[in-house]
Amino acid sequence: MEAETPQDVASSIFAKIASGQIPVQAVYEDEFVIAFPDIAPVAPTHILVIPKAAIRDVGCVATLTTEQVAGFLLGIAKTAEACGLDACGYRTVMNTGEDGGQTVPYLHAHILGGRPLIWPPG
Ligand code: 5GP
Repeated sequence: MEAETPQDVASSIFAKIASGQIPVQAVYEDEFVIAFPDIAPVAPTHILVIPKAAIRDVGCVATLTTEQVAGFLLGIAKTAEACGLDACGYRTVMNTGEDGGQTVPYLHAHILGGRPLIWPPG
């Protein structure tokens, strides 16, 4: 039996993108993830990678199968490669909850690249 998806996750914009209800210009897609440009980029390349299995954040990964978790991580690496970022490097960010600055309640990884990035972030 599939775990129930909370309503805020199921009705989020990224759930609609993951299900194909809202089309996007995918830069990478496979059975586990879909990746598309962020609507408000903060780097020359700013891509969002979302799992096709709907969960809210990193804290909920225990509800996914090991294959789905691995598929998400692999999808991030394949997206970065598809965007030509693997040679120069890039940053992967997953904001979680209020203090983490998460604004969309559906797990997503930001891939940022195309320029040197400073550390620590704000
Ligand atoms: P968070 O703050 O939750 O880590 O990141 C959410 C990201 O989603 C933000 O960078 C925001 O610009 C992006 N975003 C929000 N709504 C949309 C949308 O409808 N389409 C796309 N492509 N990006 C979105």
